[in-house]
Amino acid sequence: MTAAAETPYAGYPGLLDEVRAHALDWLTGLPDRPVRPSADVKACLDALDRELPEHGEDARATLAALVAAVGPGLMASPGPRFFGWVTGGSVPAAMAADLMAVVWDQNAVLSEAAPAATAVERVAGRWLCDLLGLPVGSAVGFVTGAQMANFTCLAAARHAVLARVGWDVEEQGLAGSPGVRVVTGRDRHSTVDLALRYLGLGTGAIAEVDTDGEGRLDLRDLDRVLAVGGDVPTVVSLAAGNVNTGSYDDLRGGTDQGHAHGAWVHVDGAFGLWAGAAPTTRHHVDGVERADSWAVDGHKWLNTPYDSGFAVVADPAALAESMSQASSYVTYSDVVLDSNRLTPESSRRARGFAVWAALRSLGRSGVADLVERTCRHARTLAAAMSGVPGADVLNQVVINQVLVAFADDARTAAVLSALQADGTAYTTGTRWRGRAAIRFSVSNWSTADADVAATVDALRRAAAPAGGPGGR
Ligand SMILES: *Cc1c(COP(=O)(O)O)cnc(C)c1O
Repeated sequence: MTAAAETPYAGYPGLLDEVRAHALDWLTGLPDRPVRPSADVKACLDALDRELPEHGEDARATLAALVAAVGPGLMASPGPRFFGWVTGGSVPAAMAADLMAVVWDQNAVLSEAAPAATAVERVAGRWLCDLLGLPVGSAVGFVTGAQMANFTCLAAARHAVLARVGWDVEEQGLAGSPGVRVVTGRDRHSTVDLALRYLGLGTGAIAEVDTDGEGRLDLRDLDRVLAVGGDVPTVVSLAAGNVNTGSYDDLRGGTDQGHAHGAWVHVDGAFGLWAGAAPTTRHHVDGVERADSWAVDGHKWLNTPYDSGFAVVADPAALAESMSQASSYVTYSDVVLDSNRLTPESSRRARGFAVWAALRSLGRSGVADLVERTCRHARTLAAAMSGVPGADVLNQVVINQVLVAFADDARTAAVLSALQADGTAYTTGTRWRGRAAIRFSVSNWSTADADVAATVDALRRAAAPAGGPGGR
């Protein structure tokens, strides 16, 4: 036998020791380092933009070079005071399982290639449906995020509504078809539009429905829009969790109206569907189980590492018909639906391990607590704005989203950049109903009361009049 030191694997212990040290450095430093990166993308390019080396080097040297080059450009977004976009961190069990997914390097394309990864996805998928109040027999495709989940679900929808009028879109394409109309609110997420472009439907397929001041669909206008559509195959896309306000469409009413017109009803609930996992927020998703498909993320509110989203479709056949491919060298399982029949991808990493681990380590009560705690932090943040001179809360804080504006757009932008530069916390901007706003999304499992208090203090400093108290 070859001695261990001579095998290609001999370098792993030393390499993994260094991975461990770098990982601990990063993770334990998260609460204390400035949240913003110290290098912008230009500085990162300057540090990295070298010619491809002619010759290789030891893996440890490469790891050291990577850590040194990227360190200044890392955003502490997995930490407790990052509130930009809708950004979760990673609960420890999910992070650990994702590390193992990389180490095991399974190809989750097929159950023949990765039986364990496939089984884990089927079980985690069932747990997800159970937690979120979705039909437990649904098919769950593990995709990269809600963008791809919206695309995947809407592909199943396109298949189903065209099949009902005798059109096989997988074979015949769209040219010459009766077309598909997508009825959705003005405040929908932009990934719905992009999904329709991927699907060849185009944004021209959208029939817009009016929304109210919080971004919620106006059900009377939904009826009006549905009624003018005639016999065109129709998909209704509802929103559970507006990306700015956190508001919810009336899922029960919207779904029933869509179904009364023969439509397929899809729900974009990238983060908002998680309200269904907690007793005090569940009412927001009342009726959610009546829809036909749902897009939801793992990497936002569940706090799994990137990339993790779920395309959930009540009728597994509709999803499988739209995603399956026939190939001479592929054998499908007769026990489960293979993963490449549920997602647009073929070869891919086993992203289900992290999801299974997050759900198992948190349990039903842990997920509920994560949702309720972050919502409580959002309410605390919003209430504290009364102590920040000039700050206006623009939305009803129904879940974890808070929109704050100052006297005018220029002032709001100035406060936001001062907050970002301060480094205590970090968040991002948006526009809501014609006004620039600062968005806070409290989505991280590790955010504590003290982090919220420190963030309010930082905002107070950022908003202090120049030259006035605190502005010196
Ligand atoms: C974030 C988000 C998406 C897109 O999700 P990704 O995970 O970024 O692909 C879609 N819809 C809503 C409502 C979102 O908040």
